[in-house]
Amino acid sequence: MLRYKRNGTAVAMILAAAAATMFFTGSSDENAGEPWGFHRNIEAMEVCRTEILTVVADTIDICTSTVGDGFLGGAVRELGISGGQYLVTCEVLMDSLGWTVQRSGDTLTAMYCRGELTELRAHPGNRRGFYRVAYNEGNPSFWEYVPQERWIRQRAVSCEVSTTVWAALWDTALPPDLTESGLLVTDRDSSRAVGYISELQRALTDRLFVYDIDFYYDVRVGDSLWILIEENRYPMDGETGFRRILAAKYQFAYGGIAEAFPFFHQPEEADAAEIILDHYHRDGASLRTMFLKMPVPFGRISSGYSSSRMHPVLGYTRAHRGIDYASPMGTEIYAVGDGIITVRRWLGGYGNMVRIRHANGYETGYGHMNGYASGQSVGSYVRQGEIIGYVGSTGLSTGPHVHFEMKKNGSYVNPATEIMPPADPLNGDELERFLAEMPVIEAQWSMLAGMDLPIPEVEPEAAGGEPSL
Ligand SMILES: [Zn+2]
Repeated sequence: MLRYKRNGTAVAMILAAAAATMFFTGSSDENAGEPWGFHRNIEAMEVCRTEILTVVADTIDICTSTVGDGFLGGAVRELGISGGQYLVTCEVLMDSLGWTVQRSGDTLTAMYCRGELTELRAHPGNRRGFYRVAYNEGNPSFWEYVPQERWIRQRAVSCEVSTTVWAALWDTALPPDLTESGLLVTDRDSSRAVGYISELQRALTDRLFVYDIDFYYDVRVGDSLWILIEENRYPMDGETGFRRILAAKYQFAYGGIAEAFPFFHQPEEADAAEIILDHYHRDGASLRTMFLKMPVPFGRISSGYSSSRMHPVLGYTRAHRGIDYASPMGTEIYAVGDGIITVRRWLGGYGNMVRIRHANGYETGYGHMNGYASGQSVGSYVRQGEIIGYVGSTGLSTGPHVHFEMKKNGSYVNPATEIMPPADPLNGDELERFLAEMPVIEAQWSMLAGMDLPIPEVEPEAAGGEPSL
């Protein structure tokens, strides 16, 4: 039987036994609620939570019933729902929500508040999600299908690097409740573990610190790593998934600390409701450059940028004003920078094509896609690193690759030699808010990690004192 931690191996030792599990937040929508997800005072929140539970215990009543014989009505009645409320409830579940076939073993849960029905949840046994009906004054007021019950939580991980970052994360970063049993028993458990660590590592090395740390050359034995992770917890399945990195610190054994702090804000281009997470250095400078180095996670350059080359399909010389990255069919294609989708359709020799308009007069294009990412259209705001499609060989193409091109002020530029501008730093009100929140995060993060996190030494000049002459 495989356990989480490979005990007894000399690989990466645990600095501070990983993970303190933080509180859960009940938001099912990642963009719901206030932009700021941290709770400023954990103790106050704990008191508040206890109080709520005490109050709730007096007033809330949860009833559960099971569809025994394939007859929904019986299970609804069993919850104490009758008369007009019974009829309208069955109608909403079957007609409005389309839950037409019930099976033996499907469950219903009703919540009563001071004797009044406020919510009904129907969990079909063969699906991960559930139907939810909210009641107002006894009548259904809102209903939806919730794909999966999910809670979002924060967890702090600390580790020491002794061979590779992967090994360090593998030894310390897996959540103890990754799988229902808490163990890695089956093949599925193991692949979940590998998946979790892969996602975490990619977020750390390929996204967050991609421009700050060279993970091939800079990493040394004795380096330390602290990460504040946000996770999805699926209570129905008893499983946990990686969501994103909130903050991270990487301390080099030979000195120096790379840091990433979160800031939630609303870019002007985004939909009014969209709150996004960006990472910044302690001083408000962005961790990102404006563009990623390439639009695929891996791939080799099969054709570079040139003003003339023999076209492999057309057979005559034609300029190649882009870079071709050969990658396996179906590989994810990322938007290399934040922007608005301007083209998303079949475009002659490009096949399935996406174009994105970025700030400062830049535009990027991605050709020969096999398919597009779902949920996007012309006019959608996409973020750097967001999936926009998948590698294919549509249009004039000899094999699976993405044709990647970049324009500046309407003219083609070579993405390989174009000097990428850094992403905008925070300024004005946003910078002020960031500088106020950053120490709060750091203090809470330390508390979660159960230790004082390292803080970079301030250069004497930067400390604010008079420079000695
Ligand atoms: Zn090309």
